Amino acid sequence: AVFDRIEDVEDKIGAYITRTKESALESARAVDKQIRNGEAITPLSGIPIAVKDNMCTDGLRTTASSKILSNFIPPYSATVVKKLEAAGATVVGKTNLDEFAMGSSTENSAFFTTRNPWDTQRVPGGSSGGSAAAVCAGEAVCALGSDTGGSIRQPASFCGVVGMKPTYGAVSRYGLIAFASSLDQIGPFARDVTDCALMLEAVSGHDPKDSTSANYKVPDYTASLVNDVRGLKIGVPEEYMAEGILPEVRVAVKKAMLLLESLGAVVEYTTLPHTEYALPTYYIIAPAEASSNLARYDGVRYGFRAADAGDVIDMFMKSRSQGFGPEVKRRIMLGTYTLSAGYYDAYYLKALKVRTLIKQDFDRAFEKYDVLLSPTSPSPAFRFGEKVDDPLQMYLSDICTISVNLAGIPGISLPCGFVDGMPVGLQLMGKHFDEGTLLRVAYTFE
Ligand code: GLN
Repeated sequence: AVFDRIEDVEDKIGAYITRTKESALESARAVDKQIRNGEAITPLSGIPIAVKDNMCTDGLRTTASSKILSNFIPPYSATVVKKLEAAGATVVGKTNLDEFAMGSSTENSAFFTTRNPWDTQRVPGGSSGGSAAAVCAGEAVCALGSDTGGSIRQPASFCGVVGMKPTYGAVSRYGLIAFASSLDQIGPFARDVTDCALMLEAVSGHDPKDSTSANYKVPDYTASLVNDVRGLKIGVPEEYMAEGILPEVRVAVKKAMLLLESLGAVVEYTTLPHTEYALPTYYIIAPAEASSNLARYDGVRYGFRAADAGDVIDMFMKSRSQGFGPEVKRRIMLGTYTLSAGYYDAYYLKALKVRTLIKQDFDRAFEKYDVLLSPTSPSPAFRFGEKVDDPLQMYLSDICTISVNLAGIPGISLPCGFVDGMPVGLQLMGKHFDEGTLLRVAYTFE
């Protein structure tokens, strides 16, 4: 049914870079056989999943939507992919993204743009736009994305689906093509909170292959799906409801606040005073880490190599010049600049200190509140071309999501209304490793 749906709508949406019909049907048949033999199956058995194309899949092309990896076939699968397959799920394809996950609209893909299923004149968000659009359009039941500064939550909000960025360290990044290693997290997209909980549970847990992965006991997340928010204390940071957030978006979020209050939660305004520094801090740290992570693409070991090089240095330069797109080059230049001698203290080290202040804002807020609530994005999905020529405007669309990555806490986006026929997302932010409470509050809206 999913492949029939892909057949029907994919030429209008463009969610997938690669599809895997043959192998997916094969595993679907295997599950079918299990059922007919009366064997036990798990909740994800046979469930068609889309995977963002920056997660390695054994024997299946993985591009990160970059020309420099356009011919890359990994010899291994990311831990998350292995875990989903072990849970019985089936990968149906690899989805489009902004090149190396740098962007907020999927317009930075080296290959093509993905369109928002609600209005194909608009972007699906980014960088995991292909995964969000695939789930929204019924081209997959669930999907995986990665979130460095909002890349799961913002496209989930633009496409009217549920998307979750787990706590830093909760899900293995082994096999994820790194963008900014101190911020990147993998997480699920789903059409409802129950599916999101099932997906999260399947991919979570310690992985000795990822040295940043935490050793903790993965909770039974479906046990959190209780229809009860009585007594929960929910804070709404006033900085996230200020000017710059579209008034209609604020109205939709206020309705969600009223609903939670009517169900017995305590909802009040609070403050995260260093919020105004989050964007500049992120755009020092993320490009710095990216410039280091992307040094490995040199045309030597794997990926694209320019054909017409004279010597080895010329080959590095030509391969990288031709292989990377403009946004990736911009980040490499920003990152190498802020890491260079003389600027390191002024920019990079300073940003790390401000990052700590931002994290401490959250620590203080969570002494008082169980969950923080805000819009996911200042506006619903924008139109193609509206921001792509103005990087600062594009960066501003992440204003509500990036602090969560800087603090390493979990965040979820779920639909909370419409503006001009386009979905609006509600963001819930939680304490480290308290995904359960986020799911519990999110479940109230189903
Ligand atoms: N839009 C942000 C950026 O361009 C975040 C991307 C992401 O979360 N991968 O860096």
